[in-house]
Amino acid sequence: MTVTQIVDPTTEEIIETIELVSLQETDAAIARAQRAFLTWRTVEPADRARLLRRFADAVDADLEHLAAMEVRNAGHTIGNARWEAGNVRDVLTYYSGTPERLSGRQIPTPGGVNLTFHEPLGVIGVIVPWNFPMPIAAWGFAPALAAGNTVVLKPAEITPLTAIRLGELALQAGLPEDVFTVLPGKGSVVGERFVTHPDVRKVVFTGSTAVGKRIMAGCADQVKRLTLELGGKNSNIIFADADLDQAAAATPGGAFDNAGQDCCARSRVLVQRSVLDRYLELLELAVRDFHCGDPSLEQTAMGPLVSAAHRDSVAAYLDDDAPIAFQGSAPTGPGFWFPPTVLTPSPDSRVFNEEIFGPIIAVVPFEDEAEAIRLANDTDYGLSGSIWTRDVGRALRVSRGVDAGNLSVNTHASVRYWTPFGGFKQSGFGRELGPDAAEAFTETKNVFISSS
Ligand code: NAD
Repeated sequence: MTVTQIVDPTTEEIIETIELVSLQETDAAIARAQRAFLTWRTVEPADRARLLRRFADAVDADLEHLAAMEVRNAGHTIGNARWEAGNVRDVLTYYSGTPERLSGRQIPTPGGVNLTFHEPLGVIGVIVPWNFPMPIAAWGFAPALAAGNTVVLKPAEITPLTAIRLGELALQAGLPEDVFTVLPGKGSVVGERFVTHPDVRKVVFTGSTAVGKRIMAGCADQVKRLTLELGGKNSNIIFADADLDQAAAATPGGAFDNAGQDCCARSRVLVQRSVLDRYLELLELAVRDFHCGDPSLEQTAMGPLVSAAHRDSVAAYLDDDAPIAFQGSAPTGPGFWFPPTVLTPSPDSRVFNEEIFGPIIAVVPFEDEAEAIRLANDTDYGLSGSIWTRDVGRALRVSRGVDAGNLSVNTHASVRYWTPFGGFKQSGFGRELGPDAAEAFTETKNVFISSS
C-alpha cells in the first residue's frame, strides 16, 4: 500500500495520511464506472437533474467545512476557499438544467425525418491540478454527469482532501454508486491509466503544458476525446487613457490572488510608457497593502505557496540580477511563504516569458497599441488577459487583437460559470463552463427515418 502525507502549507504540519490508489484499483474503479454508465445514461432527464440539484444542496450545506479543508490543504485564503466551494455548488446547479435541455435537432430532409441526438460518451477521466482543487474538478464532472456520463476523477497528489469529500457528498445526495468516483493517486499511475484504458472515452486534463502534451500524444493512440486546460502567461495591458488609480489598485488582485498560482494570473504587466512612472508609484502602494499572512483570517489577501518544492521553484526566478522594483511582505518562520514581488525586466527575460506560478509580476513599457498587442502575443500561451482603457474602440481593437481565450476590460474578472473558458495556442483546447460545455461530453448522432 502506498500512502502520501498531506501537509498544511501554512504550518508545514502533516494533517493527514492518504492511501494512494493502485493501478489494479484504478482498473476496477473504471470497470465499475463503465457498468454504472449503462444505467446512469437511462435515468430520466428530470431525475438526473434532481440528483444534481441535491448534490449542489449537499455541497452548499457543507460549504464551511469544505472551505476550511481547502485553507488547511492548499493554503487558500478563507474568502477564496468559500468562493471555490460555492462555485462547485453553482456549477452543479447550472448543469442540473442540462438534462432536460440537451436536445438534438430535426433537420428538413426529403423522404423522411432527420434527427440528431447527443449521446453520452461513457466513462470520463478528469485529471485535476493542485491550484484550484474544487472548481476545476467541478468544471469537468458537473457537465459530464449532466450529459449522462459517469466520471472517475483524479485530484493532484498534494491536494486530494476536498475532492474526496465531494465524492462522499455525491453519495449522500443520492447519486448511485460508481457514477462519480474519486481516485487519489499518482499522475504516473492513475492519470496515465485514464489515458490508456479503452473504457475511458474522454480525458479532461487541467495542468501543465508539458504533461498535457504527453497526454495528448497518449490519447492519439485510441483517438480518445480530450480537453486540455494548460498554462498561461497573461498580459495586463494598461493604456495611458485608463483610470490609472483603478488599474494600479486592481493589479495585485489580478496577479497575486491565490499567491499567483493561477493559470489566469496577469503576471505580465504592459504599461504605456508615458504613465509608467506614475503607475509604478501607485502600484507600490497597492502591493504594500496586499496583506500576505494566515489564510484563515478574513482580512488576508494572500496565503503561502502550496509546497516547499514549489516555493523553491518560484524563488529560483529571483537570482542576484533580478531587477526587483519592490516587494511586499510575507511572514517568516514555518510555512511556504513568498512575498508579492514586482520586477522591471526586459521582454526577453525568463521572468517575462515563463509561467512562474507564484506572486511575481514583470512590468514592461510599450509605446502604442500595436506594440502592446505584439508583446501580449509574443508567447506560446493564450489563456487570459486584461485591457485597461477608457476608449471603447481601443478596448474592442485590442480585445480582438490579443490571441487569448478569456479577456476582460477594466477588470480582471474573467471566470464565470455561465460563460465559456479555455485557451488559445499552447494554453490548450476545448472550452469548459458556459452553455455548451455539456455537449462536449457527447457525440452527435444523426438518424434518418425514411417515410416511404
Ligand atoms: P501537473 O501537470 O504537474 O499536474 C496536473 C495533474 O496531472 C495532477 O493531478 C497530476 O498528478 C497529473 N499528472 C501528472 N503526470 C501525469 C501523467 N503522466 N499522466 C496523467 N496525469 C498526470 O500540473 P500542476 O503542477 O498540478 O498544476 C499547475 C499547472 O496547471 C500550471 O501550468 C497551470 O497553468 C495549469 N493550470 C491550468 C488551468 C487552466 O484552466 N488552463 C487551470 C489551473 C492550472
